[in-house]
Amino acid sequence: MFSSSAETYSSYWNESLWSNTIVLGSSLVSDVAAASFIPHSAPTPKLREMLKYSSDFYGDLCRRSPEAGVVLKKGREFVDPPRAKVLPWYSDCVFDVSPCVPASDALASSTSDPLTVLPSDKQAGWRFTTFLIEPRFLIPWLRLQLEHFGVTFEKRKVTSLSDLSSFDIVVNCTGLGARTLANDVSVRPVSGQVLLLRFSGLNEWVRDTSTPGSIGYVYPQRNTVVVGGTKVGEVRNDVDILSEELKTKCSQLMPSVAASPSVGINGGYRPLRSTFRLEIDESSLHQSPKVVHNYGHGGEGFCFSPGCAREVVRLVDSLLGRQCGVDYEVQALKRVSKIPRSKL
Ligand SMILES: Cc1cc2nc3c(=O)[nH]c(=O)nc-3n(C[C@H](O)[C@H](O)[C@H](O)COP(=O)(O)OP(=O)(O)OC[C@H]3O[C@@H](n4cnc5c(N)ncnc54)[C@H](O)[C@@H]3O)c2cc1C
Repeated sequence: MFSSSAETYSSYWNESLWSNTIVLGSSLVSDVAAASFIPHSAPTPKLREMLKYSSDFYGDLCRRSPEAGVVLKKGREFVDPPRAKVLPWYSDCVFDVSPCVPASDALASSTSDPLTVLPSDKQAGWRFTTFLIEPRFLIPWLRLQLEHFGVTFEKRKVTSLSDLSSFDIVVNCTGLGARTLANDVSVRPVSGQVLLLRFSGLNEWVRDTSTPGSIGYVYPQRNTVVVGGTKVGEVRNDVDILSEELKTKCSQLMPSVAASPSVGINGGYRPLRSTFRLEIDESSLHQSPKVVHNYGHGGEGFCFSPGCAREVVRLVDSLLGRQCGVDYEVQALKRVSKIPRSKL
């Protein structure tokens, strides 16, 4: 089966039922993501369910396996005033959400949390606690879990899904690779670049989407702080100038950014589709392999991947004619705790 950051989870949950091979290509956009648990898609009932499941999954991971690189941190998101009239749709998937208020209102209500007070140049926003995910810890951690359970990894380029006919079922999580492998040109690359700064003791995140067409964010990580982002569709090769611009933009959001030395720049292409494709490929039902597609997660792959992986498990079960009655998640987390920490 193919793998992406997301789909390693699904084997992880259900490895005893599947054939346990993951085919990797040469690069993952997942390695370079920022990555915060703040979705931006318009909600649907299915997305809500997936996000809630993902939130529960990351919550368990934080508690049980801090070495996996997922932490809960408080911060605030600035948005345009019309959006802030209601709390964000994902309020039940993050924690302690409250609206930010202008300093004058905060004085009047004698609020004790400085994060709920808007800076003078911002008009609206929310304060909440959410997950920050560090792919460079999470992805190797997941791989180690899978190897521990006997999953093997193969690195090779696949030119057609029919090359994988020795497998009964293939889960196609190839991101942008689906343009050719699933012949789906509606998946398109959207570039993103981030600047890494030396960790400065920063303990809060901030994200600003209040200006249309622009995004700014500062997320503290274990040893670094990641700041972004770049304009949609823009790929910048003038790395020094880009670094300075990102630093200037983000120090307006978080002043301590200005004094933090840069340690690197990361970039990649998000596999964007109008909605991600998560379904059985009906045209594959009478051939080998049968295919379950799971690609096109754009800038939200980390937000939704545990929920998507659970859905993949359901679809594979249905192809195998199994009832999805097992509590995979609980079983998996029990097994995780068997791995000695020294190996992680
Ligand atoms: C700067 C930046 C910031 C981001 N911030 C966030 C964030 O805050 N929150 C969030 O949720 N998401 C964020 N994202 C988006 C997130 O990184 C993606 O949604 C996610 O990583 C997509 O994962 P994927 O597994 O689908 O793709 P990938 O990670 O690219 O994995 C696809 C895999 O398929 C393999 N493959 C493709 N074609 C073939 C082939 N022909 N043969 C063999 N293998 C193949 C690839 O090599 C790779 O292993 C960000 C992305 C960027 C670039």
